[in-house]
Amino acid sequence: MAVFVCAGCEGELSVPVSRVALPAHAHGEGGDRFLPPVLQPGSYAVDPEPSGPPFRSWSGIGAREAAARGVYAPVPALSFAPPGRILLAPGDTRGTVLIPERCDGCCASDGRLGPNLACARCGREVGTRIDDCHHWQAVWFEPDAVRELPVEGPTRPAGDGWSVPGLPPVEPQGWWSAQWRAAVGTTLADLLAASGGEPLDLPEGLLTETFGHTLAGVLPCGTPARRVALAGPGLVPPIPPAAPVSPVASPDIALVPRHPWTGAVWQPSDGSVPVPLDAEVWTYLAFPQPASPTRLPEGVERDDPLPLRPHRLFTPDRWLLLHRLARLPTVREPWLRAIYDRLAADGPF
Ligand SMILES: [Zn+2]
Ligand SMILES: [Zn+2]
Repeated sequence: MAVFVCAGCEGELSVPVSRVALPAHAHGEGGDRFLPPVLQPGSYAVDPEPSGPPFRSWSGIGAREAAARGVYAPVPALSFAPPGRILLAPGDTRGTVLIPERCDGCCASDGRLGPNLACARCGREVGTRIDDCHHWQAVWFEPDAVRELPVEGPTRPAGDGWSVPGLPPVEPQGWWSAQWRAAVGTTLADLLAASGGEPLDLPEGLLTETFGHTLAGVLPCGTPARRVALAGPGLVPPIPPAAPVSPVASPDIALVPRHPWTGAVWQPSDGSVPVPLDAEVWTYLAFPQPASPTRLPEGVERDDPLPLRPHRLFTPDRWLLLHRLARLPTVREPWLRAIYDRLAADGPF
């Protein structure tokens, strides 16, 4: 575990926290008007890429400089902040005060004006609190304004970390989960890269409902050339195609969980190409749960309302899809760049 302290005065700026992987929705927006903290209490994550202001527009950067920064397709703007910002749940921070003139959102702060949190003891600007509507609540500490100190304490819950509760795709209010939209948007970029530009065979059901519409819009029609299936801890692996009684061949592409603590991608043993997915979303897909665990057993009469359903088709987070796609070196191949340009032309960039 660690606590974060002010680099200027050593004042404590957080409770003890354990490191987890940066979630796919860390930079997601939209969805519900009031979103919860992006991280669970007691955890922190580090963004390896620059994020937040200052930004420079694509026209002022150029393809070569962008590629040196790990971006391989045109984007509206790039962050030129130092990499390594530290993400925490706002409730886990201590000893900070708001800088009111930097709190610029419509109901609270959206963080666009730069650091809006100062150390309460010495006044040094230490980070940015984001809690406006349609934003996941977060505090981002600036990497050069804080220091991480190791502290004693319980490190992890029991287990190896792969077992997480599944996240239902629909919120109790009846709309699609914003975390699902972010996870599917991010994973779609890797799935498109793994497709080789050929039609994909997705399992019917929720996978097709969430991934299929976007894939069908940009990949060619025809007989699917590559098969996609879930693989990961707790799932029975498919029988290798060489086995004489094999009814199921290994998939070409395996949708696998990303480890929630380390970000490591689960590795299939059958040679299929792993494409990582948010572990909570993956768990729900691999081990679907009943729509409402509070419902009474079948046959018991009661005026229990049916679960609410979305009134529109699932749409992945397109901003995160394009964000991830622009950072895959494969996007420089003409077929994938054509897909990127087509998706970017539809916005929202
Ligand atoms: Zn300080
Ligand atoms: Zn607002």
